[in-house]
Amino acid sequence: MHELGIAQNILKISAQELRQRNITQAVEKVVLRVGRLKAILPDSLTFHFDVLKKELPQFQAAVLDIRQIPVRVLCTGCALRFTVEEMSFFCEHCGAPLSVESGEEFSIDSIEVAD
Ligand SMILES: [Zn+2]
Repeated sequence: MHELGIAQNILKISAQELRQRNITQAVEKVVLRVGRLKAILPDSLTFHFDVLKKELPQFQAAVLDIRQIPVRVLCTGCALRFTVEEMSFFCEHCGAPLSVESGEEFSIDSIEVAD
């Protein structure tokens, strides 16, 4: 993934969101939900976010809170549900193909502003 582009998008979308709601207070935190399958490097994303936020007065003190969502799979054979660390395609119990239930998410969960 390209963390620089992602950081730009996060700030752009967050700024748009605040403008639409006429929220002018300083942003304290932007919470991001990212599935592990997106293979984003949190350190790199945070680094770019911290560099780019300096250009936006409303985001000077903003912290990026990255919440990673585990990869959850459902076995199409034995219907077992479990979490995998690395993406695998077959059930470790019965060998049937797995279907991914979570891990591909990418969304801005919330934007917290000062009172
Ligand atoms: Zn199975």
